[in-house]
Amino acid sequence: MTASHDTIPAPAPAVAPERRLPLVTNSAAKAFRLCHRLYQFRYVLGVRPVATAEAMRFGTSAHAGLEVWTSLDSAGRDERLDRTLAALQPAPGTEVDAIAQVTVEELLRGYHFRWQDEPVRTVFVERQFEADLVNPATGAASRTFRLGGKMDAGVEALAPLGCGAPAGEPLLVEHKTTSEDIGPGSTYWQRLRIDSQISTYFVGAQSTGFDAAGCLYDVIRKPSIRPASVPLTDEDGVKIVLNAAGERVRTKDGKKWRESSDAASGYVLQARAETPEEFRARLRADIAENPDRYYQRGFVVRLEEELRDGMFDTWQTARLIREAELAGRYPRNPDACVRYSRPCEFFDVCTGAASLDDAQRFRRAETAHEELAQAEPSAAAHVDARPANAPTPDLAPLPF
Ligand code: SF4
Repeated sequence: MTASHDTIPAPAPAVAPERRLPLVTNSAAKAFRLCHRLYQFRYVLGVRPVATAEAMRFGTSAHAGLEVWTSLDSAGRDERLDRTLAALQPAPGTEVDAIAQVTVEELLRGYHFRWQDEPVRTVFVERQFEADLVNPATGAASRTFRLGGKMDAGVEALAPLGCGAPAGEPLLVEHKTTSEDIGPGSTYWQRLRIDSQISTYFVGAQSTGFDAAGCLYDVIRKPSIRPASVPLTDEDGVKIVLNAAGERVRTKDGKKWRESSDAASGYVLQARAETPEEFRARLRADIAENPDRYYQRGFVVRLEEELRDGMFDTWQTARLIREAELAGRYPRNPDACVRYSRPCEFFDVCTGAASLDDAQRFRRAETAHEELAQAEPSAAAHVDARPANAPTPDLAPLPF
């Protein structure tokens, strides 16, 4: 009988430490590496923007759908798809971008058809972990931070998978959405060899009793097609072109209606925006024609040496976070202010055009790591609890 993830209890958590240490999560370490000031705003001061960026909303919605889909491995196909699509629906009264909503629905629908026949059994979905942050050089656990995070899923392949994952071994699953090229051999996959998140999650999984043989890296690429302009036509299906005076334009010989624009002459083809449902149909067809462009899975392993390198990365990042805490200094990184053509959420604050106290724009998070279920002390609480100039118990000052 195939066991469901619902029937497999998570192992009992390790004995809790006497004092709950602040967590270093992958998101926090990533923010710190990107810009120390960004880390300070998010994880020390606990500030979050009130409005969520569209890209963030998209990722959150897709993750919610993938969580449901992964958990329904033993459900009927139609039920699995229906409940996945239901999970994507916004709460009543929530304003959503109709094109973004259609996009996430079609991507998850295509995902279902792409992977529904993969022989994969779900062991768990969304499991949180806390583990020792270990100094790889000494094997000693940090007394300042612990590692924290939440794994998307754990599965077992019932037969060898096309991505190279072996059958019968515990596999971590990481769901990602991206705009990058995810084709085999692309830099997207190459970069994963040094991705510290995967190394951290191997350690985290082990701390919960799930000794993963590898990670099934499951990527959905966002569409590059966008809503198009649809030419307006008359009752005979002929396109409409107007001149600057708003009059319909004929061809030079006057025998037919003109059907193309001419900027120099001020002739404009009349058009309307594609409706969300028209875009849905076009996107669905594009996904059906090019499934490999939208969906890829890779099998990522960590050799002992790679795991050690990853843990050194995390350990050193934690040291630098501690140094910044003790100094009370979080330098800005102007090179990170605009990424993917979008300004950082705190750009107006850093450039003096807005204040963190503007409640219309910023709110205070209740916990440092909102993605984790339980509240934990923020880095600020941790710093405040220490007397000024107190020595770091296990992180010696850096040589500068
Ligand atoms: S705007 Fe630039 S300097 Fe300020 S937090 Fe963001 S990335 Fe850092």
